[in-house]
Amino acid sequence: MEEDYPKTLLEFEDRFSTEASCVEYLRTLRWPEGFICPRCGAKDAWHTNRGLLHCIECGMQTSVTAGTILHRTRKPLRLWFRAMWHITNQKYGANALGLQRALNFGSYHTAWQWLHKLRRAMVRPGRDKLNGVVEVDETYVGGKKPGKRGRGAEGKALVGIAVEDKDEEGLGRIRLQHLEDASGTSLIPFVKGVVQTGSIIRTDDWSGYNSLTKNNFRHVVIQTKDLKLAHLVAALMKRWLLGTYQGAARPSHLSYYLDEYTFRFNRRTSASRGKLFYRLVQQVMMVDPAPANMLKGPALPFLAATDNLNLDPVDPTFPT
Ligand SMILES: [Zn+2]
Repeated sequence: MEEDYPKTLLEFEDRFSTEASCVEYLRTLRWPEGFICPRCGAKDAWHTNRGLLHCIECGMQTSVTAGTILHRTRKPLRLWFRAMWHITNQKYGANALGLQRALNFGSYHTAWQWLHKLRRAMVRPGRDKLNGVVEVDETYVGGKKPGKRGRGAEGKALVGIAVEDKDEEGLGRIRLQHLEDASGTSLIPFVKGVVQTGSIIRTDDWSGYNSLTKNNFRHVVIQTKDLKLAHLVAALMKRWLLGTYQGAARPSHLSYYLDEYTFRFNRRTSASRGKLFYRLVQQVMMVDPAPANMLKGPALPFLAATDNLNLDPVDPTFPT
């Protein structure tokens, strides 16, 4: 299917000015081969003025957003489209305050919830695994003192990093995951979850990686200081967390932020912001609805401005 998306703000505004136009767009992304009635299998439907699809055979009414994170939203789709456009047009990531302003929301909390719902869509369900040569490492984020590996460090969260080494082309795709600890019990499932078996995995000599070979990976051990790709990704990710969220990221939400960073990083060479928007809408149509209680978390400061992240004055958040 040809990828069809607005390229400029004006194109976006012209195209998605009505609910019907939004429904139509979602419909083509949800059923790229054409609508199929979930009850009778008929292939045609008309739009009701409540934005539902009405099967021409059996009369069943289907919502294009049923079973997605937009399920039963009481807000116009036009507003959700604007939110997605806004988010994908922020070069360094969106925050709730910015979204609240862009959409004229009275409530900061609503903007915050929308942002977290949309972040869930940023990791494509069933996405491809990394392959080829993959460098794997872990890093601590948050807290004031450097963390000791292998033990839980107070106020810190451990993040697993996997990055493809594309040789001359440099960094390939990445995966980031919030891990319980740096034991093999955490690290091996992380690697298995994000990297294709048979790939070459490069790590340092940390014992947590000992059973990679047993798990059908080709394991290459190098010195910690030579894990240059993983260290670069770690530094960029931390700078982004600090810069975009100004220390407001919370441990319970870290996974969402990591998903957003991964989404942006892996599409850093996308020529068009419109294409990012397209991907996000496409993925929104693929994920399960988020129960509201999943989005609650304790209000604890996480990343402190005093974190020693060795920030330099340039801000190449996404290497080009
Ligand atoms: Zn039907």
